[in-house]
Amino acid sequence: MQQEPATRPAGDGPAGEVACCIAGCGPAGAMLGLLLARAGVEVLVLEKHADFLRDFRGDTLHPSTLRLFDELGLGEQLLGLPHQEMPFLEVTTDAGVFTMADFRRLPGRHRYIAFMPQWDFLDFVAGQARRLPAFRLRMEAEALEVLEEAGRVVGLTWRDRSGAVHRVRARLTVAADGRDSGLRRSAGLRSRVFGAPIDVLWFRLPRRPSDPRQAFGRLAAGHLLVLIDRGAYWQIAYVIAKDAAEALRAAGLPRFRASVAGLVPFLADRVEELTSWEDVRVLRVQVNRLRRWYRPGLLCIGDAAHAMSPIGGVGINLAVHDAVAAANRLARPLATGTLSTRDLARVQLRRILPTMVTQWGQRTIQDRFLSPLLTGGHPTARPPLVLRLLDRVPALQAIPARLVGIGLLPEHVRTPSARQAGLRRA
Ligand SMILES: Cc1cc2nc3c(=O)[nH]c(=O)nc-3n(C[C@H](O)[C@H](O)[C@H](O)COP(=O)(O)OP(=O)(O)OC[C@H]3O[C@@H](n4cnc5c(N)ncnc54)[C@H](O)[C@@H]3O)c2cc1C
Repeated sequence: MQQEPATRPAGDGPAGEVACCIAGCGPAGAMLGLLLARAGVEVLVLEKHADFLRDFRGDTLHPSTLRLFDELGLGEQLLGLPHQEMPFLEVTTDAGVFTMADFRRLPGRHRYIAFMPQWDFLDFVAGQARRLPAFRLRMEAEALEVLEEAGRVVGLTWRDRSGAVHRVRARLTVAADGRDSGLRRSAGLRSRVFGAPIDVLWFRLPRRPSDPRQAFGRLAAGHLLVLIDRGAYWQIAYVIAKDAAEALRAAGLPRFRASVAGLVPFLADRVEELTSWEDVRVLRVQVNRLRRWYRPGLLCIGDAAHAMSPIGGVGINLAVHDAVAAANRLARPLATGTLSTRDLARVQLRRILPTMVTQWGQRTIQDRFLSPLLTGGHPTARPPLVLRLLDRVPALQAIPARLVGIGLLPEHVRTPSARQAGLRRA
């Protein structure tokens, strides 16, 4: 195969060419962009929004993700940004408080989940990547469709803020455009849909200095509510049965406020701040997975390959680790112009097990536990056996801590920096 220089001004080459074009600058796309550019591969990332300031994203950075930043020499800087550290995961039931996972029992430096607004995290990753000459990020650039030649994906079309449509050719096109990936659809890749019996209402209420410090869950018959401490306010996830949002709205906002105050009494003095349903977003939970994550010239990663349930808050971790696995396997063939479909298959092969096992766990919790709980059938006066067991034998709390905090087959950064690899042109 012809050897082409890996470094050309991204997307601005003679025919709008680049070694790798990534659609979507979420955790998966941003991380892949950083790692490839660091290894000297010209990369163009397209993000359809003007900034990262959206409120419907998860905020968790897990120990295995934090370790990746240590490996990149960026750990201190990342944790220099405002964040909260949660050393254990607690749930409050009518019968008392139970610890579900104790991250202090994990090996390594980071024995906690860090809560950092995702816009700060993405700003940080994109900011680091922008320092690299091989990286280019275009905001307000919406990927439209893959470009195909003889059954191979050779790039994509994208629309800029003025509505003008452009083409970019790439050795590799990556769909990291999230759960509703249009690029995946345009490439004809189909997902296996598992369905999810829950949706989430997502809203915020002010946090007062006298409030408890930790993020935590509240479990009661018919209800699960999760509070995430974001410093000045609580980000609240109110889990409901699938498609129950309409009925809830019909019952009226006062009833909803009363339900929140009933579940978390210290919020009773501020639930009035929810003045309309405009303050409450409905997030539709999906769980699905592509059978094949790739086609010649195209790879899907993160939620575009496998939409995760919010249970365990592991979607960002999986997306980031997909990106690391992809960079580890693809940086060199991309840089040397030898990328083959087999290289893409290797990425799926590496990531399929953690994805399948995690989704299986999430579906089991959704179907066996949450669904009965939300339809009011679960007697919370006597909490679930698993909670009682974890509480009685604290050593067992290391198991969920490991599954949530580290996950299966965590990745390590194996891509060299361009300087070490001698890949980058002067
Ligand atoms: C209610 C809810 C709560 C969650 N809470 C957590 C949590 O606490 N912790 C956790 O780890 N995970 C959580 N998740 C899951 C997590 O948000 C995702 O798994 C994770 O964000 C996936 O990262 P990604 O980069 O693959 O996709 P995304 O984060 O969806 O990023 C995709 C990016 O692509 C952009 N984009 C989309 N279409 C285009 C296009 N056509 N062209 C260009 N750009 C495009 C989007 O604007 C976005 O920036 C939650 C999910 C839900 C539904």
